[in-house]
Amino acid sequence: MKLEFSAADEAFRQEVRAFVAANLSDDIKRKVELGLRLEHEDYVTWFRKLESRGWITPGWPVEHGGPGWNHVQRYIFDEETLLGGAPRIIASGIQMLGPVLIAFGTEAQKKRYLADIRHSATWWAQGFSEPGAGSDLAAVRTTAVKGSDADGEHFIVNGHKVWTSYAQWCSMMFALVRTDPTAKAQEGISFLLIDMKSPGIDLRPIRMLEGGTDLNEVYLDNVRVPAENLVGELNNGWSYGKYLLGHERTGIAGIGSCKQQLARARTLAAQQGLGDDPLLRWRLAQFEIELMALEFTALRLLSANQKSRVPAVEASMLKVRGTELRQAIFELLVDIAGPNAVPFSAASQFLDGVAEGPAPVELGSLAANCLDSRKLSIYGGANEVQRNLIAKAFLAP
Ligand SMILES: Cc1cc2nc3c(=O)[nH]c(=O)nc-3n(C[C@H](O)[C@H](O)[C@H](O)COP(=O)(O)OP(=O)(O)OC[C@H]3O[C@@H](n4cnc5c(N)ncnc54)[C@H](O)[C@@H]3O)c2cc1C
Repeated sequence: MKLEFSAADEAFRQEVRAFVAANLSDDIKRKVELGLRLEHEDYVTWFRKLESRGWITPGWPVEHGGPGWNHVQRYIFDEETLLGGAPRIIASGIQMLGPVLIAFGTEAQKKRYLADIRHSATWWAQGFSEPGAGSDLAAVRTTAVKGSDADGEHFIVNGHKVWTSYAQWCSMMFALVRTDPTAKAQEGISFLLIDMKSPGIDLRPIRMLEGGTDLNEVYLDNVRVPAENLVGELNNGWSYGKYLLGHERTGIAGIGSCKQQLARARTLAAQQGLGDDPLLRWRLAQFEIELMALEFTALRLLSANQKSRVPAVEASMLKVRGTELRQAIFELLVDIAGPNAVPFSAASQFLDGVAEGPAPVELGSLAANCLDSRKLSIYGGANEVQRNLIAKAFLAP
């Protein structure tokens, strides 16, 4: 077991750090560091910088534009970009659809879609979840019925997708749809590529706890999808979906984000005059220890799997610990900021004589960030379900 980085790894770290410092705009960095909302344009600007360096698709094979990194390099890249204040690579096309098309798509699909994904010209929505089909994804009820007419073979899609992240910015959606209602749940599902501008698609934003509207419902009413938009074999979509979710969970521990937020907590504590508070120091030290343990676990798994992907159950362990730690650090940040963690104190609306205005900008986003962090233990497979997977792997006879 090797728990330290080699000289080559450290040189790579410096290279990434220098790239971020030279290419990330102050405006985007400030938004990320203060937990403010990023616009589509912010992501695209940063992603195109990464593309120009050949770093936008770390998980893709070299022949399709990947950088050819091993797992340790990918880990360092994630950590250094996040620590440097860069946005996370959130695009579903890059992280999820790309690997699926490379493995299972037709040559025509690869040619048509992969370059646009790399260039952030097409953003893809992930149309998996439905009301009643989240953790139990095999329960999807959106139907796709195959037919043909003078314009050729096609599917007619009807149904309702939900929690579709950033769909308002996406011109395409990859979706799991039911193509054989008579087959066993997992066996009658197919994987379709759907143009979001097709007649019959209705997008409705969902307002979240923290006030954002980046999640959506997608209603599909007799949406026509050309048959050539089927990925892989008919009724084999479940296996492509599982392959894709394995890619989603890798890197979801967010160790770079934990470090970034812990550094933010230390800075804030000092600014608030709490740097010597013994209880706060104890909590910070506790988080440092837990983060170090998580990092060593991640490195141990990476050093054992330099070439292959982190096995699913270990990825589940990292996801559970990393997301819970991040949520706890956000709660600590709110405690440090006190009433200033909300931009306008409720007290000023109800109590006479309390003269309060907007909180300082470096504090006013914290309550929203903390509420937003509740999602971490839900998406990418809810933590309770991950615990079931871990228990099955290690405790089952
Ligand atoms: C911020 C965010 C972004 C998302 N983006 C997308 C997206 O872009 N595309 C998409 O398709 N989906 C997306 N999702 C949906 C996400 O995948 C689902 O929310 C998730 O799979 C959980 O499903 P559910 O919400 O239906 O909850 P349910 O499955 O109904 O679960 C409800 C609760 O019951 C628990 N539970 C369920 N089954 C079990 C079990 N067997 N054992 C123990 N506990 C269980 C869960 O852990 C959870 O606490 C997103 C979700 C969030 C929060």
